[in-house]
Amino acid sequence: MTKPPSIVILTGAGISAESGIDTFRGGGGLWEQHRVEDVATPEAFARDPDLVLRFYDMRRAAIQTKLPNAAHQALARLEREWPGRVTVVTQNVDDLHERGGSQGVIHMHGEHLSAWCTACDTRHRWTGPLLDRPPCPTCGARALRPDIVWFGEIPYRMDDIQRALADADLFVSIGTSGAVYPAAGFVRLARELGARTLELNLERSQGSAWFDESRLGPASAVVTGWVEDLLT
Ligand code: NAD
Repeated sequence: MTKPPSIVILTGAGISAESGIDTFRGGGGLWEQHRVEDVATPEAFARDPDLVLRFYDMRRAAIQTKLPNAAHQALARLEREWPGRVTVVTQNVDDLHERGGSQGVIHMHGEHLSAWCTACDTRHRWTGPLLDRPPCPTCGARALRPDIVWFGEIPYRMDDIQRALADADLFVSIGTSGAVYPAAGFVRLARELGARTLELNLERSQGSAWFDESRLGPASAVVTGWVEDLLT
């Protein structure tokens, strides 16, 4: 019996845009009025921790007021109904895939709703602020930081991602600009390892030439349409 096709899906900020969460490169290169270098690097945190903690406290609070959209829900449906393996790898740090019903999502850039204690190296589900330096629930040190992979840091679970890409028959990229590495290189790797490649995005991304097919439009429409096509 032949193995049902394995699908690896990479998502980016575009899948959450219709839920009201800003993408990264919209708004003239500023991210919620901040330059990326001022809020999303280890150097920025060392230089001005209050600014960085306040920025992430705001985003952590904001995502909890947002809801998953039809695209998140369609991927959860695919995971439930597809006979083969479906692996969702996201660059997003929101929890809308999980709230849309997906399980086992790989958050390669960390999560807003997690805090990392740099003293004892434990991680804790975190919904409140970090600016007031709350103690770590494990060791008591006031050394919690956002559990976010900043520019210059190594993304999480790269081994699991490489294994999934090696096993993939179909690689699908959704709502990502193809500008942030290593995620931007996954399409090339998946293709070299034998997968068919599909891009679902509002507009052609930087790596568009690497995709066998592109379907353009808002995620809520193109992702639901693609899942419907696949399952029927
Ligand atoms: P990006 O902002 O660089 O690119 C977003 C892409 O989504 C663009 O190509 C744009 O055309 C597309 N897009 C916009 N609206 C869309 C829609 N309605 N439907 C489909 N596509 C749409 O985002 P990126 O490639 O994910 O890289 C940015 C980095 O910023 C990531 O590392 C991520 O961790 C972080 N980030 C995360 C969030 C989040 O968690 N929701 C939000 C902003 C930034």
